[in-house]
Amino acid sequence: MNPRGISMDIAIIGAGLGGLAAAVALQHHGHRPVIFDKTRELGEVGGPLGISPQTLRLFGEWGIVDGFDEISSATQYFENRDQLGQLEKITDYAATPEAGAEHGRFGYADSDLAPRTVHRADLHGLLVSAVGPEQVRLRHELSGITERDDHVELTFADGEVVRAGLVIAADGLRSRARKMFSDDDIHYCGSVIFRAVSPAECLAIPNDRLRSWHSADYAKHVISMPVRAGRQVAVDATLGVDEPPLHLWSARADLQALAGQFDEFDPVVGQMLRAATGPVYMHPVYDRDPIDRWTTARVALLGDAAHPMTPFGGQGANQAIQDAAELATQIAAAPNGDYTEALQRYQRVRTERTAEIQRAARGYADRRARVSLRLADILVR
Ligand SMILES: Cc1cc2nc3c(=O)[nH]c(=O)nc-3n(C[C@H](O)[C@H](O)[C@H](O)COP(=O)(O)OP(=O)(O)OC[C@H]3O[C@@H](n4cnc5c(N)ncnc54)[C@H](O)[C@@H]3O)c2cc1C
Repeated sequence: MNPRGISMDIAIIGAGLGGLAAAVALQHHGHRPVIFDKTRELGEVGGPLGISPQTLRLFGEWGIVDGFDEISSATQYFENRDQLGQLEKITDYAATPEAGAEHGRFGYADSDLAPRTVHRADLHGLLVSAVGPEQVRLRHELSGITERDDHVELTFADGEVVRAGLVIAADGLRSRARKMFSDDDIHYCGSVIFRAVSPAECLAIPNDRLRSWHSADYAKHVISMPVRAGRQVAVDATLGVDEPPLHLWSARADLQALAGQFDEFDPVVGQMLRAATGPVYMHPVYDRDPIDRWTTARVALLGDAAHPMTPFGGQGANQAIQDAAELATQIAAAPNGDYTEALQRYQRVRTERTAEIQRAARGYADRRARVSLRLADILVR
């Protein structure tokens, strides 16, 4: 035993939606994992997420569905419009559970339960409360991970060492733990997304559904959805841009310049963007190729660390949460802390499905054309 080390049963790296969902699911089965995250504070980050009926059922099992209903909105309808606002298609998820086979197959549509939309920060806050903030250790950046016969040794950037019987690595797109399994690199998918949140009053129409507008070549695409139980509308405005944008993750948009990119769109798009109540950050879209192996005897990858995908299929958060449920179920069934088989079963169930979704999500990115644009012209200098 390392004299400086502390020991625990299960450690989770990453307090994103995947890591937190894993903690909630494990607590449901009587475990008390500790979560480590490199961030200094948990704050208001991200934009809108669509949550599928399959994920909602897990929230029901974990006893958090009432809390979730308070912060989210049911969105039974999805309207697709061209850039001028002409309606192309309206999907009623209840009447057509097979709608959008790419989503329906993985449980996005359901005749009994409408999907719901939520701001990532609100779902994140709900999961932190469910786990208990005392279980989350911030300012812990994983720098090393070594697997021994009877434990895993985690080393953090400040030199602290932790020993755990089992490690769930939910450390996102740029996962440190993934290096145990693959030396692959992140892949730029040719788009950047600007995420805005605006008051619902900026819409002259009810804020009760998913809506999207797109240019004919999909180089420009906007999706909006209700968040904060309908009080606000969240907008993801996507531009196809050739160059990986200097690996900028959080550059801020100049709102007028960004809205100007959508001058030829239905005016409601510009209205929503100009009405943003907070800074609008740019998120370049990256993913990775699927990999077959995510687990060892004592380490399991989960969420974006295992299968980062573009957000265009609306599945990144849903799949991370569904990973969490499957992994916790398998761990709960493991005899006397012998996790090897449990992790293998988890890997078998989840790799094939998520690889298919990853490929589909990249396909949506690949079909988008690019605009000729200097990103610097729409960013705050
Ligand atoms: C800030 C942020 C905003 C996002 N906003 C949106 C959005 O608006 N819409 C959308 O569709 N998707 C968004 N995503 C992505 C979406 O949340 C994920 O695709 C999905 O939820 C899977 O989550 P995850 O927990 O696997 O990964 P993530 O949500 O990326 O979480 C990974 C966590 O690991 C932590 N971490 C990383 N490296 C280390 C390390 N070495 N040591 C310790 N901790 C580490 C990170 O700080 C982070 O909290 C966002 C992700 C992030 C991080």
